[in-house]
Amino acid sequence: MDELFLVKYGEIILKGLNRPVFESKLVQNIRQKLKGLGAFDIHRCQAAIYIEPTEEVDMDAVEDRLKKTFGIVSISRVKKAEKTMDAIFEAAVVQMDKVMREGLSFKVETKRSDKNFPIKSPEISREIGGRIADHYPELIVDVHNPDVELTVEVRETHAYVYTDKIAGAGGMPVGCNGKVSLMLSGGIDSPVAGYMMAKRGLALSAIHFYSYPYTSERAREKVLDLAGILAGYCGHIDVYIVPFTEIQLQIRDHCPEEYSTLIMRRIMMRIAEKVARSHGADALITGESLGQVASQTLLALGVTNEAVSLPVFRPLIGMDKEEIISISRKIGTFETSILPYEDCCTVFTPKHPATKPKLDKVVLSESKIVDLDRLIDEAVAGVERVGVNG
Ligand code: ATP
Ligand code: MG
Repeated sequence: MDELFLVKYGEIILKGLNRPVFESKLVQNIRQKLKGLGAFDIHRCQAAIYIEPTEEVDMDAVEDRLKKTFGIVSISRVKKAEKTMDAIFEAAVVQMDKVMREGLSFKVETKRSDKNFPIKSPEISREIGGRIADHYPELIVDVHNPDVELTVEVRETHAYVYTDKIAGAGGMPVGCNGKVSLMLSGGIDSPVAGYMMAKRGLALSAIHFYSYPYTSERAREKVLDLAGILAGYCGHIDVYIVPFTEIQLQIRDHCPEEYSTLIMRRIMMRIAEKVARSHGADALITGESLGQVASQTLLALGVTNEAVSLPVFRPLIGMDKEEIISISRKIGTFETSILPYEDCCTVFTPKHPATKPKLDKVVLSESKIVDLDRLIDEAVAGVERVGVNG
């Protein structure tokens, strides 16, 4: 095949001695991402990864998946050419055709890692640049600040020619920083929270609470769909689905209404912690944002947090709803999130929730639930695991 991808990674270059670990994780994730799209030769060289199809593949599909791979900063589509000036020029024309427009400025940059190639880098740049300028009279040469930089790499077996740099998803390779569990509702916020933490190199599992028959089968499907969209970025996600009806009914029947949401959130956290620990996740993620609703005031978050000892990551804590929505649109979860299916949080919403709760009062109210520990254990025992792929 004469076309391949060159992928550059950013932040992981900074990781000193850990660098090889990060690099091999990224290569492993790329292999995983491209499964089902064909056969590839993937190798690393000087802070870049070359992804070369060894059979006919859908290059646009490959590009789409690479764009969703954390740890990748830029992606270039590269033409492979024989190591002659004519072949390099031909490949350069194919690449320039893709970007040509009136008034475009360009320059040629050459890297010659095969020192046996008889022509030196500056000369290659000069000759290819001259031939391109002749071929496209409307092009402007600008060696200082060009619109397009055409790169020629002369390597061991072939020359590689490329211009475009497509922005990658950035961040760090998923899994290189460990594994955490996302508390995933059907709303707008929690999928965005999961995306942001996966971007920091965390592998995700998800925990979802449902209250059948108060929440429907379709609400559950919606959550699995959201997990599927996230899995498009971070790979396979196991979704742990927790039956929550009994506990919600107990809260409704035994606890003061003003604390019911907070008590529910505390119990959710306790169950989530047990589920997370049982499959080796070392923190929880929520989509909470300071002040967004009564259960997310400063004091309410403190009361919720007190229920667990695992770290709880709240990457949206300082963000406005508008900012969250714009990420949600960008990553493709928004349209699914706004489907109007109920969430268990909204089924028994109190009219006047406390916004300045006192921990001791909440704990006292919570103790009115008979046998809460047993109920929690039963919920954990009733968890269903559904594996979701992107
Ligand atoms: P979202 O848009 O993510 O639903 P929200 O603004 O509606 O968030 P809440 O309903 O108060 O906020 O929930 C706060 C956080 O608690 C959610 O972001 C999510 O992490 C978690 N959460 C809420 N409901 C559920 C659920 N049914 N299953 C799992 N986690 C949940
Ligand atoms: Mg919600």
